[in-house]
Amino acid sequence: MVTLACNTGQHLTSQLLNSYLHLNMRDICPHGYADEDLNHCAHFVSHVLNVAAGSITCRGMSATKAAGRIGVCIRVHELFAACEEVGFYKDASAGQLASGVFVFVCAKNNPVRFQPRSFQNVPRKHVGIGLGGEIWHYSNGKDMVVTATPDDFRKHYAKQINELYFGTFPKNSFPSSLNCGR
Ligand SMILES: [Zn+2]
Repeated sequence: MVTLACNTGQHLTSQLLNSYLHLNMRDICPHGYADEDLNHCAHFVSHVLNVAAGSITCRGMSATKAAGRIGVCIRVHELFAACEEVGFYKDASAGQLASGVFVFVCAKNNPVRFQPRSFQNVPRKHVGIGLGGEIWHYSNGKDMVVTATPDDFRKHYAKQINELYFGTFPKNSFPSSLNCGR
């Protein structure tokens, strides 16, 4: 595991993302919202970026709330709606990909709207953080943070044709390494 000093105002880097690599949600969520039967993809990326958007947070769902730590977004479609800018992944600019974006995957025929932003709340949807051609995401099958290439991520749901979307990080979000979040 990579250990980084906590400092605010840092940029998203692969080193920062690697501080979470191969960890289980119980090591990431300060509120202990880590049931392995649940889907933690939005939960993971929201802890990295400190995104408290949405109708319910991990803190609200937990009986063991940690003092002084915010709860973060746990629903993919609510995270999508909170992004500053969204679009097809292939249309993300080089600058956006280099500074980091959320990467969403779902069936190609799932109705996804960019303006206003909406994402049908279907069961098969997943999100990770894309940076420099690599995607960090929470594997609910392996119960830990893993990396994938965009091509692999597109095949996340093997029995359907998928589409990839990007979303830029919501206003007031900022990246933090493990145990350094708000
Ligand atoms: Zn949490």
